[in-house]
Amino acid sequence: MQASAVRRVRSVEPSVPLVDQVPTVDGSEWAAVASDAGAVNVIRVFRFAVGHHLSAESASLTAVGDLGRVCALLGRGLRGLFHPAGGRDLAWDARRVLELAPLVSLVESSARRAVVEKALVDFERVALPRLDQLRAQLIHNDVSFGNVLFDDEHRVSAVLDFGDLIHAPLICDLVAPAEHLLQRPDGLRALGTLVDSYRVVTPLEDEEVELLPVLLRARWAALALISLWRLERSPGMAEYVSRWQAGVWEMFERVDRLGERPWCQQVLRAVGAASGSGTPRRVSTASLAVARQRVFGPALSPLFYRSPLWLVRGEGSVVFDVDGRPYLDCYNNVPVVGHGHPQVVAAIARQARLLNTNVRYLHELPLELADRLVESMPSGLDQVLFANSGSEVNDLAWRMARSYTGSDGAVVTRDAYHGATFATAALSPEEWRGEAKFEHVVRIEPPDGYYGAHRREQVGWALRYAAEIDRAVDELGVRGQAPGALFVDTGWSSEGILAPPPEYLVELCRRWQEAGGLVVADEVQMGFGRSGSGLWGFQVHGIVPDLVTMGKPMGNGHPVAALVARRDIVERFSENGRWFSTFGGNPVAAAAALSVLDVIERQELVAHAGAMAQRLRVGLERLVGRHSKIGDLRQIGLLVGVELVEDRTTRAPFAAADVVEGMRGRGVLIGSTGPRGNVLKIRPPLVIKEEEVDQLVEALDATLTSLG
Ligand code: PMP
Repeated sequence: MQASAVRRVRSVEPSVPLVDQVPTVDGSEWAAVASDAGAVNVIRVFRFAVGHHLSAESASLTAVGDLGRVCALLGRGLRGLFHPAGGRDLAWDARRVLELAPLVSLVESSARRAVVEKALVDFERVALPRLDQLRAQLIHNDVSFGNVLFDDEHRVSAVLDFGDLIHAPLICDLVAPAEHLLQRPDGLRALGTLVDSYRVVTPLEDEEVELLPVLLRARWAALALISLWRLERSPGMAEYVSRWQAGVWEMFERVDRLGERPWCQQVLRAVGAASGSGTPRRVSTASLAVARQRVFGPALSPLFYRSPLWLVRGEGSVVFDVDGRPYLDCYNNVPVVGHGHPQVVAAIARQARLLNTNVRYLHELPLELADRLVESMPSGLDQVLFANSGSEVNDLAWRMARSYTGSDGAVVTRDAYHGATFATAALSPEEWRGEAKFEHVVRIEPPDGYYGAHRREQVGWALRYAAEIDRAVDELGVRGQAPGALFVDTGWSSEGILAPPPEYLVELCRRWQEAGGLVVADEVQMGFGRSGSGLWGFQVHGIVPDLVTMGKPMGNGHPVAALVARRDIVERFSENGRWFSTFGGNPVAAAAALSVLDVIERQELVAHAGAMAQRLRVGLERLVGRHSKIGDLRQIGLLVGVELVEDRTTRAPFAAADVVEGMRGRGVLIGSTGPRGNVLKIRPPLVIKEEEVDQLVEALDATLTSLG
């Protein structure tokens, strides 16, 4: 088995430095020689390997990392090999460590006996039930510091000793190189380096990494017990054998001092395990908030919640805080396909491993993405430019519209938000403070049929709002401006989330376009399926914009944004200007966005969002009957606004903040919006499940009940 393993690794992973073997005179890999006592000894001869030993305690991190890399390469070299001897009995078989339990009596100190016993009990409880579910193969099983040589650059120059080969879970192969690392002062960092380097070659599964702490303690138990047993049987080997134990007791004592759970979390965090993101931690939430204030200063938007949330992990519609508490995320519209979607994450990682450059080199991914976006648009919108944020593409749309119309005149709704650049901040009255006034920007009333000048009870209310655009055109004229660009967030998310009937936007855009202006559909909020009936919000309203901007959900969290525009607009712009963004449309961003589109398609998320939106509607309407604080419900698919009032007759606003806090206390994240801060903003990922929709509704029911 050893010979075939070496042969296999040599052919499959030739970069692994193995020791050269000298064949016997008749060309075989070993010779069998009878001893005087009548036993048969197998003899093999190797050439000297060049290099020196490093100890786990003093090896550089470079050496530790290279050991992890070589360990993974060995595993990769062996993974296709079958050998019946792989099933043999071996004391170092990690799965059989419990069979060593009778040796515990050899441990003299009762305190030490207790920690070994605890390690075995935990192994039995935590690891044993799960080991059989992990991928297994032939593994080297002893890629420890004692079995490798390093060159002067601290790279592995030789792997020795295939004597512990066994068929076992792949993750067990990482235990031998890791076994003594935690003796080091920088032990956690060294362990992280080892595992990270391993992962570069062979990605590890969460279930595998999560077992590392318990496997490590079991290995220490095995080291101590086997060494005591050997000492008893062959005192002549005392020096060699007792080396195995060196450091083991000290590491056990550290676990004991810290407590098993906190120690385990510490190790899990060091190796980047999904569940390692909980306590203990060196800093508190409060001290992190203080640091935020100190280093980010007063200009940054404030934290959410009176007692801020420290989030560390997400999966689907759920995010977890630093203490491991789950929250249903009904606020963040970026992760449309769910937090940490494995397909998106894999696409990003795969491309990041291959190459990341910019669009001044040819690459197929940004082109494929551009084609996919164009396919989803009305005909005529066939030019695509990439950037990294919604603000940037709105800025670019603004530049395009100005060059096309020759005008600076912009129209936005009263509390619109379109970005954070110098130009788009001027188009974002929601963020204007004090006396901010921009001569080139005219504001129109948003189509608010509940609070605004025209109410839903009035016939033709929406068209009255649409007619506002004529006043805006006149006002621009008075200021000496022709119609330039009208920016519309197709969900009016900063206006309290509005859902006017289609005739509103159709009429508004008709009048504006006839007056010579361009329409920019800002799909940063609504894009990528949020409406539950199509990929883009403008489709719900039945308009054909001149330019479309998108960002936020486009990469499910990876920064990527795009502008889609008519060719004549882009051509006009290019007469006097050019566009380039270093990161815009890079292959990694394109891979992210393409996989988001794939997931939306394959998981049929638009239809799913539509169905979940319907379920949410039904649930919320039930609450309207139960809670007089709900004044109005507005919804476009999975963008939902719940308008809160003190009193349905006066429609006096009821601040959303207490409800948002109450929902957090019940494990659900939502936000607030609207000029009066009284609208609950609900935007769950499109992958939200039925039971999660119900959880949201129940939490809102309970919160409103508690607020009386
Ligand atoms: N447009 C709209 C409608 C938005 O909601 C936002 C972000 N809240 C932006 C543009 C700006 O996007 P970003 O923050 O990615 O620059």
